[in-house]
Amino acid sequence: MNNTKRNKEKEEEKKRLAKALKQNVLKRKKQQQSRQSRPLSKFVCGEEFLGKSTAEYSNVFENDKITIRNLSFEGGIMPELPEVEVISNFLLDKIKNKQISSVTVNNWNLRVPITKNIDDLLKGKVINDIKRRGKYTIWNTEGSMAVIIHLGMSGKLIYADHDQVRDKHDHVVFLFSDNTSIIFNDPRRFGLVIILSKEQEINFLDGFGIEPLTDEFSGDYLQELLKNKKVNIKSALMDNKLIVGIGNIYASESLFRARISPLRLAKDLTSIECKKLAAEIKNTLSDAIAAGGSTLKDYAQPSGSAGYFQNNFYVYGKVQKPCRICNNIITLIRQNGRSTYFCNACQN
Ligand SMILES: [Zn+2]
Repeated sequence: MNNTKRNKEKEEEKKRLAKALKQNVLKRKKQQQSRQSRPLSKFVCGEEFLGKSTAEYSNVFENDKITIRNLSFEGGIMPELPEVEVISNFLLDKIKNKQISSVTVNNWNLRVPITKNIDDLLKGKVINDIKRRGKYTIWNTEGSMAVIIHLGMSGKLIYADHDQVRDKHDHVVFLFSDNTSIIFNDPRRFGLVIILSKEQEINFLDGFGIEPLTDEFSGDYLQELLKNKKVNIKSALMDNKLIVGIGNIYASESLFRARISPLRLAKDLTSIECKKLAAEIKNTLSDAIAAGGSTLKDYAQPSGSAGYFQNNFYVYGKVQKPCRICNNIITLIRQNGRSTYFCNACQN
């Protein structure tokens, strides 16, 4: 009798939780939609964006697919959440509380033009904080401004003890009052360096999906996000409007660790699979951060040292190689124009 009662209570608690979760996700979606349809208020700093909505931002910033196809680029690494986290932590250690003495721009034409008056806006300002959101590193400065940096496909931030441009791809030099500097180098110029006011920064970040390393991101949350998604699970994981920071590498690796096939439809994942997947996304990203990120081609930490998480890959880039778990040959397919690596024996 007691057991039946307890079970019933448990069931009701579960239902209550599911309802609360659903409301939470819906509320978030509604907030995002209303903000996306509303044009941003006039830009104080980044006048290039005047009148653009955050939905347009997403098109400019998040659509890596298009740039990849145009360039037929394959094999390098675009920094994902772990790499940007490592970079942001490094910067926090090196340049927090430093005063900017000048910003020199050698090439204004990145994916979107660099904010025109960047030197005027930042000169003399102290950097109060550095954080990561999705794949962006954000420096908050005195005067409530935000320096928003995205490394695109090949961007690097180099910490140096000089302000000398030594490479033709050194596009921006932030010089600090102690004569150290951060140099933004980007051969393919798909990166981004813009200045936003506090209000603009808030609007900009509102268009983002959930951060996967937060407590809020759970199996239940993931299932709610995927409920009506009729796309393959790998593409859903890479959709930054749902979850931020997961790109091609960490989507493939998380799915392998959770033993879920990238071919599955997102909406068909069971509650147990969502729990497993959410946990493995967290594990994969945390392990990669601890390893200093992954270095395949272009990525390096600002100190110049490489990350080594690529040595731990199970499937990414392992085409025609045996699976570490079952010896089956790793399969390579294309999904939405991107390479997907998986083991069709381990992953169902
Ligand atoms: Zn296998």
